[in-house]
Amino acid sequence: MSILRQHRCSSRSLTHVPRLSHVARSTCSATAMTKIGSSQSQLVIEPRLETKPDLVTPVIPSAGPPLPNDPSLQSTWPHRAWVASGCSTLVFSLAKTLMGAADSHMWLEPMVAGYVGYVLADLLSGVYHWGIDNYGDASTPVFGSQIEGFQGHHKWPWTITRRQFANNLHALARSITFTVLPIDILCNDPVIQGFVTMCAGCIMFSQQFHAWSHGTKSKLPPLVVALQDAGVLVSRTQHSAHHRPPYNSNYCIVSGVCNEFLDKNKVFEALEMIIFLKLGVRPRSWSEPGTEWIEETDEAQSQVTVH
Ligand SMILES: [Zn+2]
Ligand SMILES: [Zn+2]
Repeated sequence: MSILRQHRCSSRSLTHVPRLSHVARSTCSATAMTKIGSSQSQLVIEPRLETKPDLVTPVIPSAGPPLPNDPSLQSTWPHRAWVASGCSTLVFSLAKTLMGAADSHMWLEPMVAGYVGYVLADLLSGVYHWGIDNYGDASTPVFGSQIEGFQGHHKWPWTITRRQFANNLHALARSITFTVLPIDILCNDPVIQGFVTMCAGCIMFSQQFHAWSHGTKSKLPPLVVALQDAGVLVSRTQHSAHHRPPYNSNYCIVSGVCNEFLDKNKVFEALEMIIFLKLGVRPRSWSEPGTEWIEETDEAQSQVTVH
């Protein structure tokens, strides 16, 4: 009796990275055969499989990381306009919170609501990040570009530090504008406004907090380092664990305060199991990381480690 344990290269689908479906079969054909009761392992080279062109998913050359001046990292005027729109929406929300609190002489409740919003934003950032790291691909409706962006981030994490501010935040700023502006207009409750201001603000700036967590201590503003060290913003140490195998922890990127609870209690692993049992969909984190998941070392950044 023997057990065949076949190691396959997993393929995470990504449009700018070749689909490895048949490449994996043809190149990863080394099979470890282990006999029970025997310590001997034999490496068997399987016959090379025929590599017919895949008519559905043609193999294209792998794209490299964006260059420092790559247009994909630059802010455009539409990016800036959306960030201005998101910031205006947040200022409007904050103004309504303060005016409502002043009118009702109620200050503690909006502040508590704001703190709840801050913690919830961290949780939501983790849930969203977990979802797009593990499910869907570039062709997924609505979230496709975000999924592609986060998968690219795992291969070239340092590029987030070179991405310009509005480029990094415009997608979230647009979502905040559409969801929060109606609440600003329709709601006058300072408690709800306090909650919305903090939650939406932290979500909108989460990508900036994320970028700072990839920064080098000596190059970050001292205030940012102090906030990271105090646990107000997600720390460089905590987020660096997300970029190390097995790539399935520390998903939260606002303050990281929810990460310990989520990881210790295996909340995301339980959700993955439920989704698998209900829908038969496996998360990417269950597969052996493919090349597009493993971080490439950047020459310029190879000296830079997370402190
Ligand atoms: Zn991730
Ligand atoms: Zn990251």
